[in-house]
Amino acid sequence: MSRLIVVSNRVTAPSGQPVGGQGGLSVALAEALREYGGLWFGWSGQSTAEFTGHLNLARTDGITTATIDLEEQDIHEYYHGYANRTLWPLFHYRIDLTEYDRTFDAGYARVNQRFADTLVPIIEPDDVIWVHDYHLIPLAMELRKRGITNRIGFFLHIPWPPPRLLTTLPHHQALVATLFDYDLVGFQTGEWLEAFQDYLAREVAAPVEDGSVTAFGKTIRIGAFPIGIDTAAFQTAAESPAALATRARIAASIDGRQMIIGVDRLDYSKGLEERFLGYERFLADNPDLCQQVFLLQIAPPTRGDIGSYQEIRSKLDTLSGRINGAYAEIDWVPIRYVNRGYGRHELAAIYRSARIGIVTPLRDGMNLVAKEYVAAQDPADPGVLILSKFAGAALQLPEALLINPYSQEEIADAIKVGLAMPLEERQRRWTRMIEGVVTDDVVKWRTDFVTTLEQLPLRADTAGHA
Ligand code: ADP
Repeated sequence: MSRLIVVSNRVTAPSGQPVGGQGGLSVALAEALREYGGLWFGWSGQSTAEFTGHLNLARTDGITTATIDLEEQDIHEYYHGYANRTLWPLFHYRIDLTEYDRTFDAGYARVNQRFADTLVPIIEPDDVIWVHDYHLIPLAMELRKRGITNRIGFFLHIPWPPPRLLTTLPHHQALVATLFDYDLVGFQTGEWLEAFQDYLAREVAAPVEDGSVTAFGKTIRIGAFPIGIDTAAFQTAAESPAALATRARIAASIDGRQMIIGVDRLDYSKGLEERFLGYERFLADNPDLCQQVFLLQIAPPTRGDIGSYQEIRSKLDTLSGRINGAYAEIDWVPIRYVNRGYGRHELAAIYRSARIGIVTPLRDGMNLVAKEYVAAQDPADPGVLILSKFAGAALQLPEALLINPYSQEEIADAIKVGLAMPLEERQRRWTRMIEGVVTDDVVKWRTDFVTTLEQLPLRADTAGHA
């Protein structure tokens, strides 16, 4: 069996803090590394005065991690720049927030070169290399330039934008061309895969046949590999002593009311403003029901160095304050708004205590919170999932109450329907959803991807780069 090298922007040990979205994913990748051997390579999260390419090697929880420190300028131009000010908003359909800056392009290219320079000496001939996410799209090209002929796969965790949006990116074709240095390129859902195919058909006239596509003189395999969660671990967490303690704490504070739960990184793609407005609409439309419910919104801030994140944070501060000010009573507030993270056990308990899980991203590659909410439910009395039809997860969870997150009325109506939904219907919907969440878990996801990659023939066309 080949060794596996996982490459991602940040390396998160499974015991590391979950905020930032890596909980189940880091566990799954760590498990894959234990099975295949190999190592996990990425940025340490630390800065250094001058880039040296020094590898920090460590053994954590039975896996080997290899990290590098980056210069402040790298972090600014590559991470806060091209990755999170250019690609992230554009790929989430927010061209209004997308920033283009030549220094970002240069920083992105430079850091990918630095990753390649440091990684090449530790790659062995039979290693299979699995690169993750939008920070590292050109990495395979840099590795091929340095003579690496190993199998290299790429998985995109976020949406792939439709061609009309992607073509607003300067040098979009050069970026897309770098994907053809991978052997396998994976997307979260058929919808993102289709958008990628549309781009190829429109911009480079490259048709897809049997899951393979040839362009820029190279043939790659493409496919949809919907990511799952560590379902069994989450179900166990929901029943753990730590979870029971949290559930008791919530029960004591609920005072017989129904709880609606939202858990998201504080990101403009999550539709938090729209959610608050939809909830406000519900309060306005249903004065008789108002005080029987409250919304607990957990939203730890992320990427606080970026202006658009400061803006959404301040908007939500204002909005939650306004709604609470307008509707609260001496013994009830409509929104409990919490800007911090919670551990997996506490989170599982919080999900389980909520009658409604509300997940309203404007666009999302998958959205794991939706699956976590389903996994944490009590089969005897499961809650209702309200889910944006624009999340990748909607394709896998059609039994959720699917809504258009831009419509306050749809959100308000879904809350009303969810609160009134009889036990039998809740159980029927949940039973269908949990089946998928159990079957298509994170282990299946990584096994499908790595097995597909391993079985591809070694490519013969890397010599052109030498
Ligand atoms: P994204 O990757 O864009 O953040 P996902 O919904 O796919 O969105 O994944 C979010 C992950 O981060 C989930 O595993 C979720 O449990 C975790 N998470 C989000 N907010 C918190 C929080 N406040 N405390 C703990 N974990 C959180």
